[in-house]
Amino acid sequence: MNRAALHHISYGLYIVTSGQDEKFNGQIANSIIQATSNPATVAICINKDNYTHELIKSSRKFTVSIVSEAAPMTFIGLFGFKSGRDVDKLKDVKTKPGLTGVPIVLDYTIGVIEAEVEGELDCGTHTIFLGKVVETDLVGEGKPMTYAYYQNVKGGKSPKTAPTYDQDTAAKPKSAVARYVCTVCGYVYDPEKGDPDSDIAPGTRFEEIPDSWNCPVCGAEKSKFEIEK
Ligand code: FE
Repeated sequence: MNRAALHHISYGLYIVTSGQDEKFNGQIANSIIQATSNPATVAICINKDNYTHELIKSSRKFTVSIVSEAAPMTFIGLFGFKSGRDVDKLKDVKTKPGLTGVPIVLDYTIGVIEAEVEGELDCGTHTIFLGKVVETDLVGEGKPMTYAYYQNVKGGKSPKTAPTYDQDTAAKPKSAVARYVCTVCGYVYDPEKGDPDSDIAPGTRFEEIPDSWNCPVCGAEKSKFEIEK
């Protein structure tokens, strides 16, 4: 079996929120499809270990925010590499209550989908939830971020809980100037790209970055980075 074929499946980048009774959370998800048109349904694939999974199981509802290419890595990192069991992810982002009562994340969002769970499929590590769409709206401008854009342009990685986690283990070509890896989240600092979200210009070597700089994804200190092997 050549698992490399799996690496060519296309995905998007979304924030899924869920919860009830003042307990809400959101997480990044890349595996979402519109399953049927009439009535409109969507299917989402969520890791059983995630707090959001627990909330979808109990509340039977979720919302999807379609993230734009303009979203910085700090924003993606908040929802993708931190657990809602440790931090209130929705505290510092713009939200509005949806029709179902679940907050909708509005920052860097192009469109929103609200759904009520109609069915689910146990997939071992993950559950696929099928949701009947109860409301949709366009709330922002821009192009939707694809997973390829997140990986190739933003330098993003899949967390261990993502269905696509093993895609990041594929061999990558070495560049002439050393790249550095965040030992906390796996983000790779590529000197050719720099970190424009944090005002680090393309062409800046890792050694030239100020010590006050933090990992743009998980917020780890610069000292947590190791040279890429
Ligand atoms: Fe990190």
